[in-house]
Amino acid sequence: MAEKDNGWLTDQADHLIGAALTRSEWTPLHPADDHDHCALCWAKFSKLGLPDELHVGWRTADQRYWVCQQCVDDFNVRLQWILHDNP
Ligand SMILES: [Zn+2]
Repeated sequence: MAEKDNGWLTDQADHLIGAALTRSEWTPLHPADDHDHCALCWAKFSKLGLPDELHVGWRTADQRYWVCQQCVDDFNVRLQWILHDNP
């Protein structure tokens, strides 16, 4: 199977290659933040009661970046993530 053009992915995910991601309930890094976006697909994490908001995702150790479950499923192998699924 031919590889699709993944240029967009590596551009956006360069800083995430090989990252350790921990699965956790979304909480804002700063109390004033009311939402975050998936670093790859821009899905929204929030607790505003919006119909399509996400409440659980995968965060980097410094909590600067969040990745949604769908992107973890899709890109986990390619981006060589180390996944920590909290009990
Ligand atoms: Zn995503």
